[in-house]
Amino acid sequence: MPKITRAILKSGREKALLRRHPWIFSGAVLRLDGKPRTGDAVRVEAHDGRFLGWGIYSGSSQISVRVWSFIEDAPIDAELITRKIATAIQRRAPVLENFTALRLVNAEADGLPGVICDRYGNHLVVQLSSAGADSWREIIVDALIQHSGVENVYERSDSEVLELEGLTARVGAVRGSMPNVTLPIEEAGFRFEVNIVDGHKTGFYLDQRDNRALLRQLAAVDSLLDCFCYTGGFTVNALAGGAKHITAIDSSADALALAVKHVSDNGFDPGPVEWIEDDVFKRLRKLRDQARQFDLIVLDPPKFAPTAAYAERAARGYKDINLLAFKLLNPGGKLLTFSCSGGIDRALFQKIIAGAALDAGVDARLLRHLSAGIDHPVAMNFPEGDYLKGLICQVA
Ligand code: SAH
Repeated sequence: MPKITRAILKSGREKALLRRHPWIFSGAVLRLDGKPRTGDAVRVEAHDGRFLGWGIYSGSSQISVRVWSFIEDAPIDAELITRKIATAIQRRAPVLENFTALRLVNAEADGLPGVICDRYGNHLVVQLSSAGADSWREIIVDALIQHSGVENVYERSDSEVLELEGLTARVGAVRGSMPNVTLPIEEAGFRFEVNIVDGHKTGFYLDQRDNRALLRQLAAVDSLLDCFCYTGGFTVNALAGGAKHITAIDSSADALALAVKHVSDNGFDPGPVEWIEDDVFKRLRKLRDQARQFDLIVLDPPKFAPTAAYAERAARGYKDINLLAFKLLNPGGKLLTFSCSGGIDRALFQKIIAGAALDAGVDARLLRHLSAGIDHPVAMNFPEGDYLKGLICQVA
């Protein structure tokens, strides 16, 4: 019989677990029995011995245990993990038919803490960023191949979160063939090249698919500003939507080079697009000083707050760029503004944007809330997973 290691929680700290929240912070743990090591499975119990879940222990993370199963007869083993991966992929079957690129596994929302898998055509890209994901990597990769039918797997476990988890970065081909430098995908009829080796995250911001399509419907304007444009996903859709002039800014020369290619690969005249390699914070000030005005502005910055501990600094960053954006809008102009910071929730983001409008001296209304697409579900018991938040605002 393998020994059972246990994590026993302090009295009262079982409440979140009973609501099926999967994270146990170190301060909630009363005692560890059986000396679990990082990556070991533990039986999580309330102070009175009640079963709460099966989790995986980490000695390096602030989150001491992540729960992978709330069912007593379903402990963490290869069968449980394989079943969860099969379910995650089946859940996306309707989306799979329509897209060559999509997220197959979305971590906690699919009951697989720290496991992310994106599919780009004939390649899977995995990001394993929890002790459990790391220790079950072989089983996870086998199950992904078995249930997706895709045989090439590349690992991009190099996000900043890994450091917080005390894990070392791992990058490279884990199964099948090495990818070409870029992989072609199609999104809503447009062709994009995804650099899964050097691109951001797993290569492409799949989570913005629906919002890019929505921009297309709003883009019949004279002047559009696409800030943090990356490889031009919003810009391509803006051209398709009829924008007459687009200013697109990003600090990454590599991303901009691919963005330029995406415009021509999709058959658009590059004339209307002015590409600017610069820091958005600085360039927005310059545009203000030049008295430039736009009908539509997209602000899709990188993550400013990976966890709640960074929320205050991040809030200042969001306030700054949104205030400037509000000042650059023509009367009646619209702002599509996003935050992908897990540490800033929807209510706080809306409050920051309201404050920015007030300080910019504009009368703004909220037209719509935006979020990630259907392949990026959020578990009801884990609101922290709702990381991508967006608002469409219109000024008077
Ligand atoms: N809208 C894009 C995704 C944006 S990701 C899409 O739909 O594909 C965020 C982008 O911000 C990245 O391309 C990154 O290079 C860029 N970036 C990060 N910090 C920046 C800064 N201070 N100024 C300009 N660009 C920045």
